Amino acid sequence: MPLHIETPQIESPFFDTARDSSVVLKLEALQPPGSFKIRGIGAACEEYARVGKQRFVCSSGGNAGMAAAYAGMHLTMPVTVVVPETTTARAIELLKHYDADVIVHGPSWAEADSYARSLLDEKTAYIHPFDDPLLWSGYATMIDEVAQSGLRPDNIILSVGGGGLLCGVIEGCRRSNWDDVAITAVETIGASSLGQSIRAGERIELPAIDSIASSLGAKIVCQEAFQRAQRYGVESVTVTDLEAVTACSRFLIDHRVLVEPACGAALAWAYKDKSMSSGRKSTLIIVCGGATVTLGQLQVWEKSLARN
Ligand SMILES: *Cc1c(COP(=O)(O)O)cnc(C)c1O
Repeated sequence: MPLHIETPQIESPFFDTARDSSVVLKLEALQPPGSFKIRGIGAACEEYARVGKQRFVCSSGGNAGMAAAYAGMHLTMPVTVVVPETTTARAIELLKHYDADVIVHGPSWAEADSYARSLLDEKTAYIHPFDDPLLWSGYATMIDEVAQSGLRPDNIILSVGGGGLLCGVIEGCRRSNWDDVAITAVETIGASSLGQSIRAGERIELPAIDSIASSLGAKIVCQEAFQRAQRYGVESVTVTDLEAVTACSRFLIDHRVLVEPACGAALAWAYKDKSMSSGRKSTLIIVCGGATVTLGQLQVWEKSLARN
């Protein structure tokens, strides 16, 4: 039995659309561990358990770590999550709720990740946060659900970090023969590794991440995401951190769901997308969610970003 749930799909009246257009939200924020990641990581963990792995190791203090911990709890497998010192107290608290062993190691993700990899042995599965085909096919199930509902959108808006979600959404579109459905990939300006790569025509590694949207903070997207995006003709756009955070606040009021700025990025683009009021008939927004945000943190970001 899959570890993820089939999420609600609801129409939203809060976006600026033409009279005969609609915006539909795929509410991945309502997945039990807080984001779409459980669709892919849950499927991967089940597969690794099936082939005989006996524990999981992950190096994400974000939603990939949450999903791995949650999956381990349900599969009764021990999970170790190695996180960098920058990880919030809230994230660590959540990981512990899901019974994960949390090891805080190193100043950034790179150090945490190499320590995590040093813990691997034959019986241990390494859970990558985005670069694993098992994740992508798991993510594609969200598009299967939309297709099964009878909806065929003209456009899909989603956020991009390392590109796992994008790989999965493209895979889902292909599976449903939706090759003409436009895909808009949104990043924050300081984390636009996909956008810069598409513009350059080759994969670009950012020197550093300069964005509060930590779940989008991959310095380089995975090879497959870059290739699939190019082949599919994905449109890449960016929003500012302030726009992403403001969209989170607006969405909280509109739909009473709290999401991370990583998800706010896609929402921010949708809130201001002029093509929706002038042409595109139906838009699907992947509300990818994010568990590590608190209302207090959102308010702090909003204040400090608005000041600059
Ligand atoms: C992981 C994540 C993303 C980015 O997904 P990628 O597969 O890394 O592109 C976006 N939003 C949230 C909330 C996430 O957890």
